Amino acid sequence: MALKITEDCIACGTCVDTCPVGAIVEAGDKYTINDDCTECQACLDSCPVNAICA
Ligand code: SF4
Ligand code: SF4
Repeated sequence: MALKITEDCIACGTCVDTCPVGAIVEAGDKYTINDDCTECQACLDSCPVNAICA
């Protein structure tokens, strides 16, 4: 199970560079986490609007 990005995402892109496996990708006007996610949680605290959920 990958972590999830909620509707609260404002597409700032801050979380993208925190992911060591490149699992955070653009999806329309939001970002999403794909199946490459290892649940390392490195991205979790990077989101200014707390849109990333474990
Ligand atoms: S939990 Fe880790 S692997 Fe998954 S999206 Fe966040 S930084 Fe990437
Ligand atoms: S840091 Fe948060 S608001 Fe910014 S792109 Fe990532 S999930 Fe969206």
